Amino acid sequence: MPKFQLPYAQPIDPSKKILYKNARIIDPKSGFDQAGELLTIGDKIADFGQKVSGSENAEVIDCGGKVLAPGLIDIQVHFRYPGQTHKEDLESGSKSAVAGGITTVVCQPNTNPTLDSVEVLNDLHSKALEAAHCNVRAYACVTKNMKGEELADLPALKAAGAVGFTDDGLPVMNAHLMRRAFEASRDLGVVVAQHAEDLNLTNKGCINEGEVSKQLGVRGIPNISESVIVERDLAILEAIGGKYHLLHVSTREALEAIKRAKAKGLKATVEVSPHHFTLTDQQVLKSGTNAKMNPPLRSELDRLALIEGLRDGVIDAIATDHAPHDIASKEKPLAEATFGIVGVETMLPLSLNLVDQGVLSLRDLLAKMTCNAAEIINFDGGEIKVGARADLVLIDLDSEWEIDSSNFFSKSKNSPFDGFKVKGRAIKTVVAGKVVYEI
Ligand SMILES: [Zn+2]
Repeated sequence: MPKFQLPYAQPIDPSKKILYKNARIIDPKSGFDQAGELLTIGDKIADFGQKVSGSENAEVIDCGGKVLAPGLIDIQVHFRYPGQTHKEDLESGSKSAVAGGITTVVCQPNTNPTLDSVEVLNDLHSKALEAAHCNVRAYACVTKNMKGEELADLPALKAAGAVGFTDDGLPVMNAHLMRRAFEASRDLGVVVAQHAEDLNLTNKGCINEGEVSKQLGVRGIPNISESVIVERDLAILEAIGGKYHLLHVSTREALEAIKRAKAKGLKATVEVSPHHFTLTDQQVLKSGTNAKMNPPLRSELDRLALIEGLRDGVIDAIATDHAPHDIASKEKPLAEATFGIVGVETMLPLSLNLVDQGVLSLRDLLAKMTCNAAEIINFDGGEIKVGARADLVLIDLDSEWEIDSSNFFSKSKNSPFDGFKVKGRAIKTVVAGKVVYEI
């Protein structure tokens, strides 16, 4: 059975030494990729290289030549705390995360109550220190109670540790509020992250608008539902300044818009979820409501554009949009079931596919789940360097296994990847110097 530990519930002994020897150490940020060893003392990386100094009396972990990289950072998860802890909570969500090699997550604020006040945000942070197996950060809401009517107190939320602002789950439809949010982003130096969806164009659609929605006789969500909001946001960004982050891009049109914005020098970044570059709406025919998420799985043309965006670097990061739901929320007709799938335990192997397919080098892939992700949210992590907090993952690239949702540590099992044969997995995960997960 895998072993779990909490990183912060008990303080780590500051003199505790662990020597990870016989590792292939990869730091995507610096490009370091060498066989060697790494020493942690307390919660920090003390040294790494072919041979380290100061390792006497250290506990020794033989890495067997496997990849030792910065712990993965997933900048979009829904851990359902507070309010829907029957679907997930900080403990189960973070167990699931560290089992997937993730050492830091960013929670979305569409909880109940929403993360629109300092009080609720403080409670999340302190609860996470007691109960979570990984680092937990969060976006705060753009608008009060995500109603899209009035801005939340963005400076206070930033001061309380919010990594940025979003009403994820709902778009900010009011362009004036978006302008005000960009003004705050410009002044505070954090991103406004958008779930880009024009609700009028979505028109209560439930899956991608295309052949599959026609075949099933359900309402579709057109590509323009995403792209018109992205085009609008980028126009406001250009006029006002600030930083824009597009959550879970799904369409080629939205990606093109980001590409143009980047070429103009605007501060725009974008993430993609593994399901959007792995699957198309055809999967709905096989997995039903477990392939229903928002934005929806799109066409093969879109999927290929996302792959190209990963290859050419327009896509900065990979994030899961981990969205656990209980069985009752999914055992419904397609039009009525809730949107979303679990993702933190399958992000790494699904992404490693891109390396096998020759789309990305291992370094470039890891960058999208470590240093690039950290940069978007101004997080002090995502790299291996002396003095940095020891957040690490040991990856067995050759381990072949079959995804079985019944084995997930998440409270929820809603995944379209059940039965998928994959390669590569996290075998040890280290947060702040402690081995929080090992198999
Ligand atoms: Zn979303």
